[in-house]
Amino acid sequence: MLTFDHYLTPKSLDEAFDVLQRMPAARLLAGATDLLPWAREGRAGDVHLPAVVDLSRIAALGGISQEGARIRIGATTPISALQRHPLLMQQAPVLGACALWFADDQIREQATVGGNLVNASPAGDTQPALLALNTHVTLVRREGDRLIERSVPLSEFILGPSRTMLQPGEILLRLEFDALPNHGVAFEKVGHRRSLAISTVCLATLVHLDASKRIDDLRIAIGAVGPVPERLTDIEDLLTGVTPTSAALREASVRVADRVRSRSRQSYRREVLSNFVERSLAAAIAHAGLDLPRIPKESQNV
Ligand SMILES: Cc1cc2nc3c(=O)[nH]c(=O)nc-3n(C[C@H](O)[C@H](O)[C@H](O)COP(=O)(O)OP(=O)(O)OC[C@H]3O[C@@H](n4cnc5c(N)ncnc54)[C@H](O)[C@@H]3O)c2cc1C
Repeated sequence: MLTFDHYLTPKSLDEAFDVLQRMPAARLLAGATDLLPWAREGRAGDVHLPAVVDLSRIAALGGISQEGARIRIGATTPISALQRHPLLMQQAPVLGACALWFADDQIREQATVGGNLVNASPAGDTQPALLALNTHVTLVRREGDRLIERSVPLSEFILGPSRTMLQPGEILLRLEFDALPNHGVAFEKVGHRRSLAISTVCLATLVHLDASKRIDDLRIAIGAVGPVPERLTDIEDLLTGVTPTSAALREASVRVADRVRSRSRQSYRREVLSNFVERSLAAAIAHAGLDLPRIPKESQNV
């Protein structure tokens, strides 16, 4: 059970940092969809906190905007906005594809994109999609009267299960990446059930074809098969500059089995990952404007 002495709702970053200065053991909270189950299910035993700092009313942590070629998403943006916000639907559609697989309507309204990253679950669904977008996260702290921001690549931010670069007294402010309106996208996920299930394998693919239908930009990121999400850079290198064919996608897909590092359900995960790589490449390439015939495959799982 989670109990606390104070529930605080600061309206600005300065108010939030005032609380953290007064009560360094206070815990930040956004949508509480990780924090509450963590305490309620006894995973942390009974938790008593001096204060909980609800970040949801701080305007600086919200909002979705475009600055030149860059898209900015505030940390407390709910997952539902990834699915519905017109700017993201147009400029980063892989996030909508990811949000579709994220829990259900109720959780998507409550859960935030910042909370999903800070929680750093190996099965966090936004991680592969944001990694494929080459996302940088901006962290903010206060020194004296000054707010100091630092920006780090998402690939460095998540250090391991439940571990990030976030320092005590720091708040995740926003995410930033380049708008990619002309990339074909795909997102794949399998869990024990379609949604409301933690991922066993998830994967995001972004592809851009040049005027001759050659792949000139490919990003594939996987989650839930190891301690941190990762890019399949070898597959990206293999297929960049290539005119895609069904055979080339099949060849790429058989190379990925050794990327599964989770020990549980390993052979299942390997087969699913291989199938997902092939299927998501075909789907993203089709989304980018080139339909490839599918080569039939015997499969026990997908
Ligand atoms: C029924 C159910 C289904 C779920 N399904 C999925 C799913 O399909 N896919 C998936 O990926 N996840 C799923 N989750 C997990 C959860 O919804 C996400 O991880 C969510 O995005 C966390 O965001 P939150 O705002 O609720 O975080 P919170 O629980 O409020 O916070 C999580 C952690 O992040 C910290 N934190 C939050 N915001 C900030 C910030 N701005 N700066 C610094 N620290 C911060 C908090 O202190 C806490 O440690 C599910 C959860 C439930 C209960």
